[in-house]
Amino acid sequence: MSLLEVKGLKMHFPVHGGLFYRRIATVHAVDGVDFEIEAGETLGLVGESGCGKSTVGRALLRLYDPTAGRVRFDGQNVADLDAHSLRSLRAEMQMIFQDPYESLNPRHTVGTILEEPYVIHGEKDAARRRDKVMKLLDRVGLPEDAYHKFPHEFSGGQRQRIGIARAISLRPRLIICDEPVSALDVSIQSQILNLLIELQQEMGLAYLFIAHDLAVVKHISDRIAVMYLGRIVEIADSRTLYANPLHPYTQALIASIPVPDPRRRKEFEALPGEVPSPLNPPPHCHFVDRCPYAQAICSQQTPELKPLAEEGDTRHRVACHFAGNLPPSG
Ligand code: SF4
Repeated sequence: MSLLEVKGLKMHFPVHGGLFYRRIATVHAVDGVDFEIEAGETLGLVGESGCGKSTVGRALLRLYDPTAGRVRFDGQNVADLDAHSLRSLRAEMQMIFQDPYESLNPRHTVGTILEEPYVIHGEKDAARRRDKVMKLLDRVGLPEDAYHKFPHEFSGGQRQRIGIARAISLRPRLIICDEPVSALDVSIQSQILNLLIELQQEMGLAYLFIAHDLAVVKHISDRIAVMYLGRIVEIADSRTLYANPLHPYTQALIASIPVPDPRRRKEFEALPGEVPSPLNPPPHCHFVDRCPYAQAICSQQTPELKPLAEEGDTRHRVACHFAGNLPPSG
């Protein structure tokens, strides 16, 4: 049994308007997503902004109530949990945000912020709480005097360390990392990624690592799922995905990664068109309007996410009618 199992997850948001403020449309933010994460594993979830990847993360923690589908954490159906059980679940399943500043109360000191999870989970002894927070600060590379300071007194990288300290405080088993380094300078990004990798090795953590940058995801992920307009279009272990991307969207994303060596620099081929609105995604293959290989069937039948029979690797799954055998581009 996997630590996390997600099956058919959908997250649709109603749009209201008009004279009587009726429902006039639906945003299909997440439109039927399946994946699993093993204990101690990192699954990267990558795609352009607006593809629904952050919504997946929030739905897993029931910050949103999913429209459909099933989320099981350690065998428990997350949708069935009452408020008390949900609190226990959130101790085991934590989140790190892109902008920790938004999630850190600016009026509280770092000491108060980091003690809060212990207060909520019943640690009444103030000295013990403080001791635990000091150990957390040390572990994430912050000085002792951070305890008395406020979030605005720290740099972006240090604030992310505070966010990480809070996320690991209750010794979770899974952390949803929602673009945790996207807002940071490149030099700081690698420090934060290395800290996450060290913590994973020490604590046996599993990560769902959400990012729009495939180069960042490659650095940390065991497996990668590529998302386009609310659906996963390809999932494989990292090495396979980079060496043998089968979905045209994955191929375009990989082709767009900058190559530092100018002699090896590839011509960047931008994808034509914009990501369609999730208010009105193309039926069947959502990628059809931008795909250079699209055929009539792509607008008539929805491609299923499935392994290629000839590949023999059931963990490499692709949602394309022509995966492994793309027709000439049009
Ligand atoms: Fe392109 Fe068709 Fe494959 Fe969709 S199913 S990615 S439109 S070839």
